[in-house]
Amino acid sequence: MEASDGSPKRPKPFLKRRKRRTYPPCVACRQSKSFTWTCRRCDTFSMCQTCMDDNLWGMTCNNITWTCPDCGHENSYGNR
Ligand SMILES: [Zn+2]
Ligand SMILES: [Zn+2]
Repeated sequence: MEASDGSPKRPKPFLKRRKRRTYPPCVACRQSKSFTWTCRRCDTFSMCQTCMDDNLWGMTCNNITWTCPDCGHENSYGNR
């Protein structure tokens, strides 16, 4: 039984699905890399560093954020 005492504590909306972060294969070269840039919103778009370097001109205009072509979410670039 839980008494509601007006405490702002709430269960976190994000459930931990996996302990280890795994990256989906790169959408451009279809290779699985140890690290890919993954969209934080849709989590389906991922691009390896090599392809990111090739496509960066179309993904970012400031080298600080890159825009997911799938959902348009701006992800930070340079911060894993
Ligand atoms: Zn790639
Ligand atoms: Zn996205």
